[in-house]
Amino acid sequence: MIYRRGENKTALVTGASRGIGRAIAERLAAEGYRVFANDLKAREAELDDLVATVRKAGDLCEILYCDVSDPASVETMAKDLLAKSGGLDLLVNNAGVRSVHEAGDIGPDEWDRMFAVNTKGTFLVTKAFLPHFRAKSAGRIVNIASIGGKRGGPTETHYCASKAAVINFTQGLAVEVAKEGITVNAVCPGVIDTDMGRTHLEDAETLRKVLEKTAMGRVGNPQDVVGAVAFFASDDAAFITGQSLNVDGGILFH
Ligand code: NAP
Repeated sequence: MIYRRGENKTALVTGASRGIGRAIAERLAAEGYRVFANDLKAREAELDDLVATVRKAGDLCEILYCDVSDPASVETMAKDLLAKSGGLDLLVNNAGVRSVHEAGDIGPDEWDRMFAVNTKGTFLVTKAFLPHFRAKSAGRIVNIASIGGKRGGPTETHYCASKAAVINFTQGLAVEVAKEGITVNAVCPGVIDTDMGRTHLEDAETLRKVLEKTAMGRVGNPQDVVGAVAFFASDDAAFITGQSLNVDGGILFH
């Protein structure tokens, strides 16, 4: 039984229809949070399934459609959430995109797409809720970055650069809001078995290299990531801010 430390609290998880975001939303709901699950309208079926699963367990989950890279869409989502819930305690910026190309093959539009969702999306959603967090002198922000943001990777320079920016944003913002009761931390997953991570896993040679590099000798799954998010959200992490925690089975240090 999971300790229900989210009772009477509200959380927003972006990109929650599948993969890591869905696992985070389910875990937070199981901890008692009233969870608002965001994704693009195109993911309606997956979000409906998430809501049904959470409610079946007797927990709380609602949907908020929004494109996190679109300022107007983000503003509308923030207004809707605050009108419905009266407040937000935890923001998890999880929505992300990734593609695999050598740098010479990345067009300007693809470069911009990475930064629009991964970096600007994180900024826009955070900015939309900062006045609320500041007004109540409390708030937890957890950004899902990547180990790729700590060490650049071949064939994903655009993705890694966008995630390095998220880590840097996390650090600077953490200092800006530290005296206002708000913490800002990042979680940096390694290779996780989701639709996004699967490009590492489908090719046998790439998978072999990943397993060889990962000290624990296995690929992660979404459940491996949720504990770090729940920890940063908890009272146990009250004096922790500006951190970026690797959840990677030891891939960066092997
Ligand atoms: P995923 O399965 O592709 O899920 C990402 C979700 O974000 C999708 O549902 C996606 O919707 C949504 N999304 C994309 N653009 C959006 C937008 N503009 N507005 C709202 N939602 C949007 O990926 P994942 O593996 O769970 O990744 C979750 C996070 O972990 C990402 O930030 C990713 O970069 C990070 N991460 C993943 C890994 C890994 O190995 N899987 C490793 C390190 C970090 P659509 O599918 O409709 O675009």
